[in-house]
Amino acid sequence: MMTRARRAAGHAALGAERDEVREPGFWAKDAPAVPACPRIETDLRVDVAIIGGGFTGLACGYYLRRHAPGLRVAVVEAHRPGSGASSRNSGLFGAYYAGWRRHMLIDAELARRFRDLGRRGYDRLMAFLAEEAIDCDVLPGDTLLLADAGQASALRAQGEGWRALGVAAEWLDGAALAEQIRTEFYAGACGLRTRWRLHPGKLMSGLAAAALRAGVPIYERSPVVDVDSTRPARLTTRRGTVTADRVVLATNAYTPRLGFGRGSVIPVHHAVLLSRPLDEAEVAAYGLAAWPARLEVGVRTHTMRLSKDGRVTMRETLGYAARNSSVWPDLDNAYEQSRAAYIVRYPWVRGLAIEDRWHCISAHTENGHVVFGPLGADHIFASVGYNGSGVVAGHYHGYLLARHLAGDTPDDYRFLCDLPRPRPLRTERERRAYIEQGVGV
Ligand SMILES: Cc1cc2nc3c(=O)[nH]c(=O)nc-3n(C[C@H](O)[C@H](O)[C@H](O)COP(=O)(O)OP(=O)(O)OC[C@H]3O[C@@H](n4cnc5c(N)ncnc54)[C@H](O)[C@@H]3O)c2cc1C
Repeated sequence: MMTRARRAAGHAALGAERDEVREPGFWAKDAPAVPACPRIETDLRVDVAIIGGGFTGLACGYYLRRHAPGLRVAVVEAHRPGSGASSRNSGLFGAYYAGWRRHMLIDAELARRFRDLGRRGYDRLMAFLAEEAIDCDVLPGDTLLLADAGQASALRAQGEGWRALGVAAEWLDGAALAEQIRTEFYAGACGLRTRWRLHPGKLMSGLAAAALRAGVPIYERSPVVDVDSTRPARLTTRRGTVTADRVVLATNAYTPRLGFGRGSVIPVHHAVLLSRPLDEAEVAAYGLAAWPARLEVGVRTHTMRLSKDGRVTMRETLGYAARNSSVWPDLDNAYEQSRAAYIVRYPWVRGLAIEDRWHCISAHTENGHVVFGPLGADHIFASVGYNGSGVVAGHYHGYLLARHLAGDTPDDYRFLCDLPRPRPLRTERERRAYIEQGVGV
């Protein structure tokens, strides 16, 4: 169970989320600006306080306005809304959950339930985009899951699992990959056709605008530095407090720094490179028209995707930084190494101009399941730990939490609450070992 952790001796200086300078990544700069929101300048009293203004927190606020318009709500964001993972991700999505792949071959019933949950989450997101007329460049995202020689047979078996669930999945061997996407790095890949990609910045700014239109008060540049979990709960920010009957933690990989979920929620760092726009001939030659999304399975994974304007993003998982830090110590070096890793995989990357780059953290859990629902006490809730698949899940979990807080609990809320909670990895050594052995598998 995830409970509020006492701050360990010697770690107090880290405190809550502290990466003070957060430069926007390309997606945020390439999207309509999120309107300026006020800071918390005085003490507030609300029914529901939501900490974190990304996909999860803003969806929760938005659906609370729709399903319980009488409740007083506040979204409290440390930086700008959407400045965390929600505007820095690869924007790949579909009707699936990260948890699927681990359980697919072990527990067919659970796999089916995840499949159906994923479909409902996907349908909710698509309905929201239509209802709010948000154009976020949704395009087909035919996806290759790529394996090296050691991973190929396990991935091939997963492909059978996809097919057993009625999901179209094809196997490509190394020779097919060399021909189709000009790489000799991989032994094989599972090709999934029912996937999509979108512009994360446009989704984020559309969601923020929809939440503001619905009347959600959003406070930005107001980091919560302490949560007193007594009833009512009391959040402390630099210039005022927020007293709330119920609190939602939508704080993603920053959650352990706030004193919750230490060991259960593991912040994993990523470096992302963005290329100049490729022309049509290049897109075709590199197989990006056929396979615009590529995800490696395994340790320190690499993800490549094509954007609507022909740019390629290249993400590398860097690993875990000490003491749940949201800061990676040597980013310039990390970007250089990421580029080198991509050149090894795709030699055509060597001459490709890189026009932007950014860093971000995502939240992972030891068993692949999200930390969802009430945390011991029934007035502090969380939805944290999407294990790299938060575009659909962040939105849908915000919706499910809102419906529950509005007094109308959906079955999917109960299903997520009943999943086994991730085992806390209490030592730094355990967390590092898990990242090296587990993430992306
Ligand atoms: C590089 C990268 C690529 C990814 N690619 C994909 C992908 O292709 N497809 C996919 O489905 N998912 C992807 N993900 C995962 C996805 O981006 C996340 O799961 C999702 O954005 C999580 O949304 P969120 O709202 O929970 O978290 P966030 O967007 O991180 O929002 C959390 C917010 O909480 C705020 N906060 C934290 N602490 C405090 C505090 N103390 N006080 C106030 N505010 C606080 C933060 O500032 C932040 O804005 C990727 C993630 C990364 C990092």
